[in-house]
Amino acid sequence: MKKAVYPGSFDPMTYGHLDIIHRAAEVFDLLIVSVLNNKEKTPLFSVEERVKILREATKDLPNVQVDSFSGLLIDYAAEKDIHVAVRGLRAITDFEYELQIAQTNRKFSEGRLDTMFLTTSLEYAYLSSSTVKEIASFGGNISRCVPGFVADLIYEKYQIKTRSNAHEQQNRADNR
Ligand code: ADP
Repeated sequence: MKKAVYPGSFDPMTYGHLDIIHRAAEVFDLLIVSVLNNKEKTPLFSVEERVKILREATKDLPNVQVDSFSGLLIDYAAEKDIHVAVRGLRAITDFEYELQIAQTNRKFSEGRLDTMFLTTSLEYAYLSSSTVKEIASFGGNISRCVPGFVADLIYEKYQIKTRSNAHEQQNRADNR
């Protein structure tokens, strides 16, 4: 059975992440999307909330599981008997950072954890969790960035009063 882990912050999950999940789920028999509990970052969503969002968004994908982990990815992967990590690449700036992590993981796992990169679909190349949060914090329209239920949760966090307005925009976008 070919298994892989897709680790990340997913704070919150965007259509860019979802696209990578769909594509990786076609390659592997089992894909575990795992939310990193990173104590150094102050997230908008708790690990539990991020897991819940990912579960809801992937509920129609039978070979995708959602989990969370703290500590080193190589230890988590070994525990699950997984030898491939999936990561997404948007731009050359991602590459430098990702290359270093991939090589470190390979070295420190003594070759037991390799990394497979999927390049972003062009329509999501600009998309990151942080830009989505910034736009939403000013009440901007994020309907092209995240599913409707995620947009609602983000506006709720920022206590944006235009929430229902944004929801209507989302519905219109979904029906298009
Ligand atoms: P991290 O803090 O681990 O980078 P992120 O949630 O920001 O966590 O990203 C997780 C992974 O998803 C990374 O490999 C990142 O490059 C990838 N990713 C994020 N957004 C996109 C996107 N729009 N298209 C493709 N890959 C993406």
